[in-house]
Amino acid sequence: MKIHFWGVRGSIPTPLSPQQIRQKIDAVVERITPQDIAGDEDKKRFLASLPKWLYGTTGGNTPCVEVTTADNSRLILDAGSGIRVLGKQAAPPENAEFHILMSHLHWDHIQGLPFFDYAFRKDYTLHIYSANPQAKDIFRQQMTAPLLFPVPLEAFTPNLYFHTVEAGYPFTIGSSRIITKKMKHPGASYAYAITDRNKKFIYATDVELTNSDFERTRENTAFFENAAALVVDAQYLVGEAIQKENWGHSPFCYAIDFADFWKIGSLYLFHHEPEYDDERLDAILKSAQWYSDTVTRTHVRVYKAEEDVTVQI
Ligand SMILES: [Zn+2]
Ligand SMILES: [Zn+2]
Repeated sequence: MKIHFWGVRGSIPTPLSPQQIRQKIDAVVERITPQDIAGDEDKKRFLASLPKWLYGTTGGNTPCVEVTTADNSRLILDAGSGIRVLGKQAAPPENAEFHILMSHLHWDHIQGLPFFDYAFRKDYTLHIYSANPQAKDIFRQQMTAPLLFPVPLEAFTPNLYFHTVEAGYPFTIGSSRIITKKMKHPGASYAYAITDRNKKFIYATDVELTNSDFERTRENTAFFENAAALVVDAQYLVGEAIQKENWGHSPFCYAIDFADFWKIGSLYLFHHEPEYDDERLDAILKSAQWYSDTVTRTHVRVYKAEEDVTVQI
C-alpha cells in the first residue's frame, strides 16, 4: 500500500506568507560561507545541512491523503484543498476510477472537490463514500451556481456515485477491506481502517481522543490494534487541548500514547494547526519524538505528515 500526502493542514488553507518566504531566504543567506558555494558539491552539502523547516515546508493544503492499494485501486481520504494538487500532479489511474472517502463534511475537508480536475472528466468515474446520507446534497449546496460557485455539481462526470457507509460494517474497494468508526468531533467524524495484503492503515483526523478510544473492547481492538501506520489528528499542544475541550482535536502526546497503546508501527501527526509555522511544527515533531523515545519509551516511529511525501507500508 502506498500513501501520499497532498494536504496536511487543519481548518483552513495556510499558504506561506511573503514575510515567511523572506525570513527563510534571510536565514539561509545568513548561514552561507564562501566555501558553501565554491562548487556544485559544496552547494548540495550546504543545502542538505539546512534545518528542514528552512529548506522546505510542511505544507498548507487542507486534508487529502491518497492510498494506492496492491491492485492499483486509488483511494482518496478527504477532499480538502490538497485534492486540487492531486488532480494536477498525480498519474491518472489505469481504470479511470477514484474512490473518495470522507471523514466528515466540514469545510476544510470538502472545499477542494470543485477544483478536482478529474471530477469534470466524463471518462472518469468518481465514487464518494460518507457516513452522512445527506453528503450529495451538501456537496451540491457547496456548488450552488452561480452564487457560491460558477458551475453546479451536475457539471461533474455523469459517473458520479455516492455511497453511505455505516460504522462497523466493512466494505471492499479493489483488493482492500475497509471499515469505519465514529469518533468524537463536533458533528462526528469517521476514521477509516484500510487493510490490504495483511497491512492495516488507519486514517483518523478531526478526532478528539477520549477514554473510550483507550478501552480494550472487541470493536476498538479489531479497528486500531497492530496497524502498520496511523495518520491521526495532532493539532494541539496539551494546554490548547485543555482550553479547547470539545473542539474535536487532539494534542500530539495523546496521539503518541494512543499509538503506543494500540501497538501501531508508524505514527503520522496530521491536521496541523494553521497558526504554526514550519519552525514551530518541526519543534513539535522533535518534542513528539523525544516524548515517544524518552517518556512513553514506545517503539512507535513518529513522523510529521508533510505534503508531497510518499510512504510505503
Ligand atoms: Zn478539519
Ligand atoms: Zn472537522
